[in-house]
Amino acid sequence: MQLTLTSDQRLIRDSIRDFALKEILPHRMEWDESQHFPRDLFQRMGELGLMGMLVPEQYGGAGLGYYEYKMAIEELAKVCGSIGLSMAAHNSLCTGHILQFGSEEQKQRWLPKLASGQWIGAWGLTEANTGSDAMRMRCVAEKDGDEWVLNGTKNWITHGITGDVAVVLARTGELLDSRGITAFVVERGTPGFSGGKKENKLGMRSSETAEMIFDQCRIPAANVLGEVGEGFIQAMKILDGGRISIASLALGMAKGALETATQYAKEREQFGQPIARFQAIAFKLADMATSIEAADLLTLQA
Ligand SMILES: Cc1cc2nc3c(=O)[nH]c(=O)nc-3n(C[C@H](O)[C@H](O)[C@H](O)COP(=O)(O)OP(=O)(O)OC[C@H]3O[C@@H](n4cnc5c(N)ncnc54)[C@H](O)[C@@H]3O)c2cc1C
Repeated sequence: MQLTLTSDQRLIRDSIRDFALKEILPHRMEWDESQHFPRDLFQRMGELGLMGMLVPEQYGGAGLGYYEYKMAIEELAKVCGSIGLSMAAHNSLCTGHILQFGSEEQKQRWLPKLASGQWIGAWGLTEANTGSDAMRMRCVAEKDGDEWVLNGTKNWITHGITGDVAVVLARTGELLDSRGITAFVVERGTPGFSGGKKENKLGMRSSETAEMIFDQCRIPAANVLGEVGEGFIQAMKILDGGRISIASLALGMAKGALETATQYAKEREQFGQPIARFQAIAFKLADMATSIEAADLLTLQA
């Protein structure tokens, strides 16, 4: 397990840190309060290689590995959880699904736009009544000639309204059959595909979480990812990687909180000295640092 950064990795980390401090920090409160999803920022992140981190260079990606990906999410999340979340969802879910299960033609068609940040990706698995228990999903796709007709609603989807393209999981077989679900790519603008209600969240408010609605939405058979019936198994594999990215997100936010708390404890004076000098405060900071270190090692091991 790699524990120290190479000089290239240090360079990548420093440039992302610099970007986050210059381009995100000054705006994060305003974006969060107004629930503004900063679309333009993601295009600039694309120029830095942050929107296709695991995508090979031949499809316009950065061609990096999970170590760098974890580090990048952390650096963004240290400054703003929303931006870290949106970047992680875009890379791991929609882009990751097309990268892992798309045909050569599908990869060439969608990955360059996603990896450059020109397009934002969404990934629809969850429905109102099926979160962890995704196999009971109600969203259905029925074959009609060379097309599939998609009907149903996906809930709590990151970039459900703003996403330019979505990977959508829908039932094509029997309920509870693990081989009864298929993955489809649906582009924004396809008739019958619309964004629905945007969630009013308590936190991470500048990462858009919304409904995606499919009403007699016709999708060409060429947009099926992998084989018909493989979608659930594909989704579980995608979530394996997604869990590392969400762990990195939590880790980055925790590191950001510790940095802020430590800085404040050194600056804030009570009884004639910085509160960091009081052992009760120092113990709290030490406990936070220990938990973060343990979580970091666990994430690296994953
Ligand atoms: C900010 C945000 C962004 C999201 N983005 C996306 C997205 O882009 N695409 C997408 O498809 N989904 C997305 N989701 C949905 C997310 O994936 C679901 O929230 C998740 O699958 C959990 O489902 P649930 O919230 O319905 O919880 P539930 O499944 O209802 O679970 C509720 C609680 O019960 C526990 N539980 C459930 N089953 C068991 C069990 N068998 N044993 C023990 N405990 C159990 C869970 O751990 C949890 O604590 C997003 C959610 C949020 C909050």
